[in-house]
Amino acid sequence: MADGYIVQAGSSKGKRFLSAHAALFGDVPDALLVERDKSRDAVQEQLERANADFELTARAPEAVEQGYESDVFDERAETCVECQACTRVCPTCHCFYLYDTKQQDYFGKMKMWDSCMRVGYAAVAGGGNPRQLLGDRLRHRLMHKFVYFMERYGVDMCVGCGRCVDAEAGDVDIRVVLKRLSDELTDKGKAVAKRAK
Ligand code: SF4
Ligand code: SF4
Repeated sequence: MADGYIVQAGSSKGKRFLSAHAALFGDVPDALLVERDKSRDAVQEQLERANADFELTARAPEAVEQGYESDVFDERAETCVECQACTRVCPTCHCFYLYDTKQQDYFGKMKMWDSCMRVGYAAVAGGGNPRQLLGDRLRHRLMHKFVYFMERYGVDMCVGCGRCVDAEAGDVDIRVVLKRLSDELTDKGKAVAKRAK
């Protein structure tokens, strides 16, 4: 911003930090607040324009869970090149694997960042792999983000940043998948309502 930054605490820890260092901060001038609101409105407008074609008619967690058997996962994953970029840039993806390694004078256990879009991710000892197909991996990625995490923690695991869309190498846009699942769920609902009449 033109005349500095606005600092706002987002947690009790942040509030404690701000009050412990209150001498470093001054009152926010009104002009700065106006500038902030203008910037937020501009971003909001840009977001709405960019996502106008992807408005969901159902909630994402329901659409993904109810769409478990949908063909959309296999269809959209057809162009996936397994580069894993979607999961590497995602701010909420956090899966890892542990790897034992023998060095010259010690044995090390390495913790490595992993990706559920990688073929070996779900492989188990003995050679089995429940998610060999790319479509199954795409489904799992969405199930984890929108269903399993929601069940466990009450929030979904997508902040809507769009990084996975920007990083896409294989034209597998998460918005397209969600829109299709949402439309399929809405159509199912309409069909049920029709039968009930
Ligand atoms: S970024 Fe696209 S192409 Fe790469 S693994 Fe993810 S879905 Fe597949
Ligand atoms: S839009 Fe969602 S899934 Fe994609 S990178 Fe951002 S948080 Fe991750």
